[in-house]
Amino acid sequence: MISFWERDTSLADVDFLLIGAGITGMNAAIALKSRHPLARVLVIDRHPWGGGASYRNAGFACLGSPTELEADLARFGEDVTLDLVEMRWKGLNRLLQKLEGADIDLAWCGGMEVFPAGDEEAYQRAMQIIPFLNKAFHHITGEPQNFYEAKESPAGIQELKGVIRIAREGRLHPGKLMQALSALAGGLGVSLMRGLEVSHLDPTDKGICVTLGGGTSILAGSVGIATNGFTADWYPGLPVFPARNQVFLSHPLDKLEWDTCMHYHQGYVYARRVDDRLLIGGARHLALQTETMSEEGITQPIRTYLTAFARRHFGLDLSAGFAWEWSGTLGVGDAKHPYIEDLGDRVHAAVRLGGMGVAIGTLVGESLAHRMAP
Ligand SMILES: Cc1cc2nc3c(=O)[nH]c(=O)nc-3n(C[C@H](O)[C@H](O)[C@H](O)COP(=O)(O)OP(=O)(O)OC[C@H]3O[C@@H](n4cnc5c(N)ncnc54)[C@H](O)[C@@H]3O)c2cc1C
Repeated sequence: MISFWERDTSLADVDFLLIGAGITGMNAAIALKSRHPLARVLVIDRHPWGGGASYRNAGFACLGSPTELEADLARFGEDVTLDLVEMRWKGLNRLLQKLEGADIDLAWCGGMEVFPAGDEEAYQRAMQIIPFLNKAFHHITGEPQNFYEAKESPAGIQELKGVIRIAREGRLHPGKLMQALSALAGGLGVSLMRGLEVSHLDPTDKGICVTLGGGTSILAGSVGIATNGFTADWYPGLPVFPARNQVFLSHPLDKLEWDTCMHYHQGYVYARRVDDRLLIGGARHLALQTETMSEEGITQPIRTYLTAFARRHFGLDLSAGFAWEWSGTLGVGDAKHPYIEDLGDRVHAAVRLGGMGVAIGTLVGESLAHRMAP
């Protein structure tokens, strides 16, 4: 049962409707409302408070580690790889400009890629492409030496063949970032409704009928799909697939000497500080064929591997357990670029942000907005 009052307010027709309140959907909504202040812009998300990758990521504001970039160069070529670096750099700057003054715990702590003993070959290959990467990064970021060899391992990090330092890299608090984006959107007059799952879209003469769980619907002039790794759950056929990524946060530690963003093996393993705790996550390379779902979950092989990694390289005994464990859903595919397309006159999608959404989500959202209102 729906009252006239509900239909006339919460469920009234809208000009623009975004599905997904992550970094992509919120940036699209902000861009639409900024350009069209009188338009009715609504964001719908099925999760009551967060749930998407934007609320569950590691908070690295990063442009890529040497082995990640090397793998991308081999697989996708120079143009695609460097275009994405530029997109990450511009996207981060745009995001920070938008949220200027907001408290998102941003720290430009720099990064490092570590090469354990036994990874000599990977280390040599990475060292070889550093001059090329530095030249390209100089052009994009203005930083003449983004990557350089550390003469010795940072204090508290051990059993390594080598370390490559990364100059332009930071960390932030994803929850605070999303709160700041939501506040910005709310201040502009964007409406957000949570706890509502979109089940399907039907084109009509008057617009797109967006059907929600429970059978009610909202009519929208234009719809933007920003459901990233969850898209196949409700809108099959797009080239984006879910990939589960697990994150572990330790109890407070007395001994955590280093403060930088750590990457290992093409970024598959990552670690950073959160105050006096260690956040460590990823290791998806151990289960590429199986961690392909959007359901939440933690697996023992990945927990064991990351616990052993922390013991071997950080000298930390975390075998008693972590304070927090969670998983999030990446949207991945055969191509590395995000998939930003028109799916009809009034339905548009911006998905497949891979592990780069903090950096590129703002530009991807703005591109979606542009497609919804050229
Ligand atoms: C564990 C982890 C660590 C990561 N670390 C980093 C990092 O350090 N740096 C970085 O740059 N990137 C990182 N990423 C990637 C980054 O988080 C994502 O690329 C980015 O958040 C994607 O944002 P999005 O808005 O496109 O999607 P999401 O944030 O996933 O948002 C999609 C939203 O759609 C909603 N939804 C889904 N289906 C429906 C439906 N039918 N109806 C209504 N709503 C629906 C979901 O509830 C969700 O809120 C990480 C990702 C994960 C999972």
